[in-house]
Amino acid sequence: MPVLTKADAVTLSTSLLVWWERHGRGGIPWKLLPSGVSPALGQDLNPYGIWIAEVMLQQTQLNVMLPYWKRWMTVFPTLENLVAASLDEVRLQWQGLGYYSRARRLHEAAQLLVGRPWPRTLEGWMALPGIGRTTAGSILSSAFNASLPILDGNVKRVLARLTAHARPPARDEALFWSWSEALLDPSRPRDINQALMDLGATICTPRSPSCERCPWQPQCAAYASGDPCRWPVTDATKSMPFQVIGVGVVISSAGTVLIDQRLEEGLLGGMWEFPGGKQELGETIQACIARELKEELGIAVTVGEELMTLEHAYSHKKLRFVVHICNWESGDPQPLASQQVRWVRPEDLRNYAFPAANTKIIESLLIKLTQ
Ligand code: SF4
Repeated sequence: MPVLTKADAVTLSTSLLVWWERHGRGGIPWKLLPSGVSPALGQDLNPYGIWIAEVMLQQTQLNVMLPYWKRWMTVFPTLENLVAASLDEVRLQWQGLGYYSRARRLHEAAQLLVGRPWPRTLEGWMALPGIGRTTAGSILSSAFNASLPILDGNVKRVLARLTAHARPPARDEALFWSWSEALLDPSRPRDINQALMDLGATICTPRSPSCERCPWQPQCAAYASGDPCRWPVTDATKSMPFQVIGVGVVISSAGTVLIDQRLEEGLLGGMWEFPGGKQELGETIQACIARELKEELGIAVTVGEELMTLEHAYSHKKLRFVVHICNWESGDPQPLASQQVRWVRPEDLRNYAFPAANTKIIESLLIKLTQ
């Protein structure tokens, strides 16, 4: 097992900071003072924007989440604004970022944070919903220059390559935390953590690391092997389950469209969607849609023409949505497998938070209705 000595760590953190001062990602808005300049060592930053950014960054890259963060800070510029918002309003701002339970947990955490000083300890942040050790460490080091390590996916990858670690990082978390901690420059934790993230995001990237531009090349065991992409070692990947989902866009005689809100628990909890469900073996897609709408909403429909087919990959499964226009025939829609159902005008669909696949269905439906 590789050992990172104190001397190694000092050499590595020094070269990393020298590289970062010239090549790091500058101008990240939540890392700046309101005046737009970087804080001095003794200056704190407001944790609110940092906390929102760190939660968005848990599953999403910086260049993708940045416009969402900017919009969020316009709509909910303070903790008090977030507390005053409804969960539906919060979900609407989160729409498109995925992993929607993060929005619900942010909203819950806001209720716990309001009216008291911002937590200054790991334990204080980790007691909040949706905050793990790396998010807490990142918030505290960014806001208060606290001497706490981080270990996100980027940092794990860089450290696994630096040491050519023989096992998946997830199997040796304690060791990886100890490496990240050893690299902390106690006078500049805010900078070293940002530098580590920047190195992983811009140089030591998953598929094509730019070793020729890397400050750690002289010490990197993966580079010395000649094939750095062999690290991080992974467990053999399981094949992804694949399912076909029949979806009904049910239109009433008044021209309104039926949507339902998913239960809070589980994947995409609380999001709105068009009703439907899994196709069973030997079932046509039309029969699947008619059955699902009967089972989940208690209505009878005529399944009409196909609106679209689209594929969507989640982290653990791939789905193919086959979407048909349906005419409502009978039965009052009941939320038998959802929180609530609602008839809405097509032009009002954009006021509801839908997962990514459903937003494509809305676009297609609105185009069709204007033809
Ligand atoms: S030398 Fe290459 S593999 Fe090693 S840390 Fe740098 S970019 Fe990553």
